[in-house]
Amino acid sequence: MSYCICVDIGATRLRVGLGTKSGDILDVVERSTRDVVLQWRDEYSIARGIEDLIRNVLSRNNVDLDNIAGIGIGSIGPLDVKRGIIVHPPNLPLSDIDYIVKEYLEDKFGKKVIMLNDCVTAVWGEKWYGAGKECSNIVYVTFSTGIGGGVIVNDTLLLGADGNAHEIGHVTVDPRPDALRCGCGGLGHWEAYCSGIGIPRFSKMLAETELRKLYEKSPIREIGFENYDLFTRKFFEYLKQGDEFCRAVFDKICLFNAIGISTVIHYYNPELIIIGGSIAINNRDEILQFRKYLNMFVMKGIRIPIFEISPLGDYAILKGAIALVFNTPPTYVKFVRE
Ligand SMILES: [Zn+2]
Repeated sequence: MSYCICVDIGATRLRVGLGTKSGDILDVVERSTRDVVLQWRDEYSIARGIEDLIRNVLSRNNVDLDNIAGIGIGSIGPLDVKRGIIVHPPNLPLSDIDYIVKEYLEDKFGKKVIMLNDCVTAVWGEKWYGAGKECSNIVYVTFSTGIGGGVIVNDTLLLGADGNAHEIGHVTVDPRPDALRCGCGGLGHWEAYCSGIGIPRFSKMLAETELRKLYEKSPIREIGFENYDLFTRKFFEYLKQGDEFCRAVFDKICLFNAIGISTVIHYYNPELIIIGGSIAINNRDEILQFRKYLNMFVMKGIRIPIFEISPLGDYAILKGAIALVFNTPPTYVKFVRE
């Protein structure tokens, strides 16, 4: 059984790959997650979408199910890790549904299924196949639609009481009563300011207050703030061209990123922080600029870790899903048994 199935359940794309024990991905098939959810509109829709993609990737590579060691899945959350269910995912169109994934796929294929949060899966992938091979203490931080994390301390993958020991994006960076409200409902969270959704909202806040004059002169005015995907893409484009408004906003983003990252450093004492997610991968030099503010926040005598942009990039979750099958984290085995 030298192959496995690796799955990345994202808010935008559902990807299924054929992986090998050495961590190679031989083939990937994908569909829009939204289309899959809207095709069946019930609690098994995501699992059915995965089932179809698995049958597709096996047949087009002439691989028999007997040669599959298991199915590893990295998924958007929140998750009920024990039961393998995605609970009311806020970033999917039918967000009031609990999506049953693990049980359905185990029934259909008769294989072990291991499902963890996407960033937790990614840090496990970096440990086995990426930047973390030589390290025992690693934090993976993703900057994409949200801000997420995965944490390994002394070679142990942290899960916590319910499997949520990694929600680093929801640390408070702005405690003022009129701070931005996070998508999770919390006040002044890091994700509400510095993620793909947060950057346009934070920019709007500053454009209406202390940076009004710079905003009025900036070409980013043409974009508006509503289409956050477009705004964030254009924001980094104008930032690289030297636009003064974007530079002033980004300086504050760097400050908040330094607060978030210094919290991670104090909590987990990592030797390596791997930064991934589309915002980081597309703006590598910019995203690392928070380092200039770290000394303001990190306690003296505490190690400043090495920072690296994820070498696995867009494949970190799929690679992690392979590692879940062939090198199942002992914490997970214990967690689902209890
Ligand atoms: Zn939050």
